[in-house]
Amino acid sequence: MNTRRKFIKKSAVTAVGIPLINVSNCYGAQQEVEKNISKKIIPTVISTWENQKANEAAWNVIKSGGSSLDAVETGVKVPEADPEDQSVGYGGRPDRKGIVTLDACIMNADGDAGSVSFLQGIKHPISVARKVMEETPHVMLVGSGAERFALAKGFEKINLLTDLSKREFEDWKKTSKYKPVINIEQHDTIGMLAIDKNGDIAGACTTSGLAYKMHGRVGDSPIIGAGMFVDNEIGGAAATGMGEAVLKSLGSFLVVELMRQGRTPFEACKEAVMRIIKKQQFGDIQVGYIAINKEGEYGAFAIQQGFNYVITQKGQTQLIDGQFFKK
Ligand code: ASP
Repeated sequence: MNTRRKFIKKSAVTAVGIPLINVSNCYGAQQEVEKNISKKIIPTVISTWENQKANEAAWNVIKSGGSSLDAVETGVKVPEADPEDQSVGYGGRPDRKGIVTLDACIMNADGDAGSVSFLQGIKHPISVARKVMEETPHVMLVGSGAERFALAKGFEKINLLTDLSKREFEDWKKTSKYKPVINIEQHDTIGMLAIDKNGDIAGACTTSGLAYKMHGRVGDSPIIGAGMFVDNEIGGAAATGMGEAVLKSLGSFLVVELMRQGRTPFEACKEAVMRIIKKQQFGDIQVGYIAINKEGEYGAFAIQQGFNYVITQKGQTQLIDGQFFKK
């Protein structure tokens, strides 16, 4: 190629701020540049409920050029470590035997996934889930197997039951009435999705599950496609609320597939909620979904009023009330 032509090519590329590469005789590279020009990357963090601190921790990772995977792990570790958050990690409410059991899952932009369920005595189940993804040939470890794996990887065994959660459990035992209270007690699972500066999407979900659940009960949160799902070509989704309803409809996978078919994140979340409403009893339950797509658009929808979520884009974090089906 003569020098003048080379100069024109370079000028055209630098004019839109794309790094210089030799696009002259490589069709694939040319296409790549065109894709980057037409698709703007919008770094994003979104999470369920009032998890502003978690979003900020995740955003700091993204801001400094970290991956969406590191961001979601860092973000959800905030409520996992917080004794005042009684639905996630340390300080979570126990099952009806008085034992705190944790569920978590994580997915990266390559479609790899890791999950732990019915895990006891480990403060950061999300980090164990990540190790399952990265350091085993498996996707999911449960119960004592997950615990043994965590200990072998250097995680410390601690007592997750705080005095507050123990006191509340002792009170609950006086009646042993199992009736989850919508939005109030049992629905603080954190589901988080992030887009990093490369445009790659990852997700994480972690919970102590429903308070006073049967010993051995596992909800949606550690199940890939139910509590959370990411497809880096399309977007990601996460769920909170009554896990049984989400499990029966494989909600997060459904939301991503609806986005693949052209729905916006909001429309996809709404449709996934409507499937629960059409097919299942919903009077006393809450389910909320959050979703993002590859373009950085986001949305949420819930069965009942009271669901909210936190979005961070361009360094601004906002708490937003989710739209809902029923007051
Ligand atoms: N989805 C969780 C579960 O069913 C509970 C929650 O979101 O609060 O275990």
